[in-house]
Amino acid sequence: MENNKPLTFGPINSRRFGRSLGVDLSPNSKQCNFDCLYCELTKSKTMEKQTISILPKYYIKEIKDALNKYPHIDVITLTANGEPTMYPYLDELIDEINSIKKNSKLLILSNSSLIGKSEISSALLKIDIVKLSLDCATKKCFKKLDKIDKSLNSDEMIQGIIHFSKIFKNELILEVLFVKDINDNNEEIGKIYEIIKKVNPLRVDIGTIDRPPAYDVKPLSKEKLEEIANKMDGINITIAHKNSTKENAQYSKLEILNLLNKRPLTNDDILNLFDENSKLILDQLVNENIVKIINLAGVIFYKTL
Ligand code: SF4
Repeated sequence: MENNKPLTFGPINSRRFGRSLGVDLSPNSKQCNFDCLYCELTKSKTMEKQTISILPKYYIKEIKDALNKYPHIDVITLTANGEPTMYPYLDELIDEINSIKKNSKLLILSNSSLIGKSEISSALLKIDIVKLSLDCATKKCFKKLDKIDKSLNSDEMIQGIIHFSKIFKNELILEVLFVKDINDNNEEIGKIYEIIKKVNPLRVDIGTIDRPPAYDVKPLSKEKLEEIANKMDGINITIAHKNSTKENAQYSKLEILNLLNKRPLTNDDILNLFDENSKLILDQLVNENIVKIINLAGVIFYKTL
């Protein structure tokens, strides 16, 4: 189908991925196989397949124009008003973008629903950064929080994520969005953590609702997200919360090491938590090779060795 609406948007500066050119694989209306309580789009009936799709040639034209106009794009982000892996020409579009993207990386933001399907996982293998959502571990939670389409089986989705993580050679990120009184209980968190350990992604981005949700649900506090992150030993976690206030606290060398032993901190965490002197101590620990700095899919982490 032809289209009059813009198929790309931005570039926008994304904190986690740099300068991003968005590509909307469902520009006319929401087409999704989930109906998440926290969705920032309107609530809607789930669907198994896209009913309206734009041909790849229209996307390629717009992406080429945007790349000419904005030469410095860090990532081309495949997203949608809905779920981008439902786009029926995904494999062809990925091949074509890969042939024109030059130094930009290709990123997809997916709800993981179709990752268990071989045609989807083999298409995603050709993407530089794959970010998959995993809000739940149990069927009950998937039904309640993500309201998944009846054509989907949450156990197959989880197995699909685990299998994909074993064959994918590029950057894999998981995202977990927590909603108050839905997936923030210890049992669900424990089970999500077990899956995360099996997937062993480069990093896990955890967050909560920060825009008006489709349904009447509530976000978690920053403290509660930190408590959850602290339960996930050995995982590189970034926390996104709109109330990330600057604490400017003073930490000794030992306190910094204790913090980093609990979990690696991101550059943003350091900027928000540490006062100037504590930052100097951290720099010293880096110079002494006690703490190392690593870049995980565009996010800087400080980790103890
Ligand atoms: S998967 Fe994304 S687009 Fe679909 S309902 Fe959930 S939040 Fe909305």
